[in-house]
Order: sequence, then C-alpha cells, then structure tokens
Amino acid sequence: MLIVIDPGHGGTENKNVGYSGKYREHVGNLEYCLKLAKYIKMNGMDCILTRDEDTNVSITERSEVAVNNKADVFISIHSDAGEENAKGSTVFYSVNHPTDKNIAISLAKTISESYNTKYSVRTRPSENRAGRDYYGVIDRTANDSLYKVPYVFLIERAFHSNKDEELLLLDKTVSDRSAKALADKLKDIFNMHWGQKYWNWLNENGVEIHDTRFNDPITRAEVFALIARSRGCKL
Ligand SMILES: [Zn+2]
Repeated sequence: MLIVIDPGHGGTENKNVGYSGKYREHVGNLEYCLKLAKYIKMNGMDCILTRDEDTNVSITERSEVAVNNKADVFISIHSDAGEENAKGSTVFYSVNHPTDKNIAISLAKTISESYNTKYSVRTRPSENRAGRDYYGVIDRTANDSLYKVPYVFLIERAFHSNKDEELLLLDKTVSDRSAKALADKLKDIFNMHWGQKYWNWLNENGVEIHDTRFNDPITRAEVFALIARSRGCKL
C-alpha cells in the first residue's frame, strides 16, 4: 500500500498567507505533510512526498510521482482561503470516481474533528479542468493515460483567511494531532493485507478465488488446484 502525499505549493509559489500574515500556506502544508508521512510509515504503510523541502514542483510533476510509482492513494494537502468568515474543512475527490464521496466524507470528518472545525465539513467532486486551477492535480492523477491512481483526494484542512482558523493552522500541537488522526484514518480505510494485491491480480486474471482469509494455512491439494487452474485447467 503506497500513499503519495503532496504538500501544496512551495518555492516561488509562496503568496498564500493567513489572516494576520503569520501563517504561510506553502510552509504550513509542508510541515503538516512531513508529520503525516512519519505517522503513515509508523502505521506500516509506504509513503512518498512530492516535495520534502521548499521548492517549486509543477502540477504535472506532482501527479507523475504518484503515477510513476503506481501509488494506491494520492492526497494533496492545502489550506483554504475565502471571505473573512469562510471556515471549515473541505475534501475534494475525483469527479470520475463518484463512489469516493464516502471516503471523502470520512476524511473530512477526521480532519475537521482534529482541527475542531466540526461546524463545517464539506466534500466536493473535482471539475474536469486539468491545468485551469490547482484542482487539476486531481484530474491528472486520477486519469493519467499510463496508470490511473485509484484513490485521489485534495484536502483543504481549514481556512487560513479566517482569524480563528489561522491560529489553529499555526498551532503545532493541533497540527501534530491532526496528522496522526489522518494517518490512522488512512490505515483504517486503505491498509490491506499484502496478500490482497495477489488476490486481486489473480481474480482479474481469470483465477477465481472466493476465499480472503489470508492468514489461514493452505493444503498441498489446494496449491495443486491453484497451479492447475492458473494453467487453464477447468476441473
Ligand atoms: Zn493551496
């Protein structure tokens, strides 16, 4: 299970600042993602960051990190801006994967609880406008012609343009709590047994197996039957 985490912005893309000017989105995203990656690895899952320092990374390059490594999950991390009273957490999912809405809801609840912004939890499908705005990273990653990353999300943790939420985004204790909560939720949702990938592959390639008790022992007869079936035996 490989999760690619994308800290939004960075390098010369550094113009998004908070209500007071103290919080800077490109820095806040990176700090949060470094913690998130640490907790994901502690939970036994692989994790790659699209950037681990304050550098420019294009939307295409971000998407390519996930595509080239055949990631199972891609999550872009941001904080939001809007009118002064806009507040809360939003999770975007791919418009091409409508069933991801339930996962997006679950992630949005986790994030908003961890930031204590429970008054406003939203999910939205991305719009197919690759390149037109930042949400293009969702569409590129979910729809690449070589490999389509199965689960793609963009998380707006809270509004840095909101006076109270900027303080939450600056608070290192809150940020740490949130990164841990998100890593734990990702484990709940995505961490599959290592045998699951082989099970999926076999089923996609014509060797039907209904049993998913991955830790149960297998008999010699069952091994013979599996090998025979994988070679076209229809017995
Ligand atoms: Zn952003």
